[in-house]
Amino acid sequence: MDLNTLYRTVIMDNYKNPKNKGLKHTDDYHFVHLNNPSCGDEMNVELKIEDGKIVGINQDGHGCSISMSSASVMSDVLTGKTVEEALKIINDFYEMVKGVDDIDEEALGEAIAYMGVRQFPARIKCATLSWKAIEKAIEEVTSNGGEK
Ligand code: ZN
Repeated sequence: MDLNTLYRTVIMDNYKNPKNKGLKHTDDYHFVHLNNPSCGDEMNVELKIEDGKIVGINQDGHGCSISMSSASVMSDVLTGKTVEEALKIINDFYEMVKGVDDIDEEALGEAIAYMGVRQFPARIKCATLSWKAIEKAIEEVTSNGGEK
């Protein structure tokens, strides 16, 4: 399967059957909203960290298939990772869509499919929106010292 086929398959699967979709609105989750005005994408994420580990990510929003599917993949790839591992994967994801090849492909898992986005610079903000939202959530939770 070539990368473009993988890209289309991952986007379609995760757009039609999104993982971890729907917010819980409970106190143990930290909420972040971000939008991408260039495309009109709206993204909400919820994050739960316990003992330095991501134990729950919920995502919900509306927008294009790239932003919505990427949120599903992001939630699946980062759940179960330590904060440190997650921040490294998030950074590798940014590098990958910008065109950098020196990344840990194995850790990125299904997110590797978004490598194709580098051919469409206008869509990079769509692909990274949910990743930026969860990065902000991680920063806010860890800087509070509050592992809610
Ligand atoms: Zn978009």
